Amino acid sequence: MEGMTSIQDNLVQVQERISEAAKASGRSATDISLLAVSKTFPASDVRLAYEAGQRSFGENYVQEGVSKIAELGDIRAELEWHFIGPLQSNKSRDVAESFDWVHSIDRLKIAQRLNDQRPSELPPLNVCVQVNISGESSKSGVEPEEVADLCLAIAQMPHLRLRGLMSIPEPTDDETQQKADHHQLFSIYSRLKQNPSLQTGSVQLDTVSMGMSSDMSAAIAEGSTMVRIGTAIFGKRTYL
Ligand SMILES: *Cc1c(COP(=O)(O)O)cnc(C)c1O
Repeated sequence: MEGMTSIQDNLVQVQERISEAAKASGRSATDISLLAVSKTFPASDVRLAYEAGQRSFGENYVQEGVSKIAELGDIRAELEWHFIGPLQSNKSRDVAESFDWVHSIDRLKIAQRLNDQRPSELPPLNVCVQVNISGESSKSGVEPEEVADLCLAIAQMPHLRLRGLMSIPEPTDDETQQKADHHQLFSIYSRLKQNPSLQTGSVQLDTVSMGMSSDMSAAIAEGSTMVRIGTAIFGKRTYL
């Protein structure tokens, strides 16, 4: 197509991969949302993706995300910004004030701070608890046994809306291993959904945030409802 940028082209291809993976596992592609991870890429690239129809974007670094959100202020109401990186307590206010979602809740203290700092004129902040499913090798996320307690505490926080779980498994090219990791997160999520204390009005458990550029098909096969894709949309990242 004339005038098509590679970002637009890549988005089409990623949507096709989502559809194929969904079809292969008997799921509907509409049940899987695409989060475009724009970290390290300029606001102008986010705008190109927006012009191609993409609305949800993920950022890992607070300062970078906050500046990009401000730069794209003219389309703020149409965009959904997700914070997906490690979150330090001293940066939580910026996230509570600027983002719509946080995927990386890994301790009670950070949830409490976000709840306290979420401006009351904004809707509740959508949150996922990050789970460490790869064992000792990975240091981020709560242990599977601790997920339920943290979720129950979040369910009591009026300015947070619990949406689900997120994980970043140890990278591997082995699809069997990828599926085993994703399967583990999905089972924890399924158990959580059966918890009567989480079936209240303020909780909306509908999100399994798993799958990146190299493991999205395995993640979709195992029940992902939101894939977080950076490289396959924006290209290879260079860190300065
Ligand atoms: C960078 C990042 C992604 C995107 O990874 P790609 O391999 O570039 O698709 C997804 N999730 C998190 C938490 C990330 O930090």
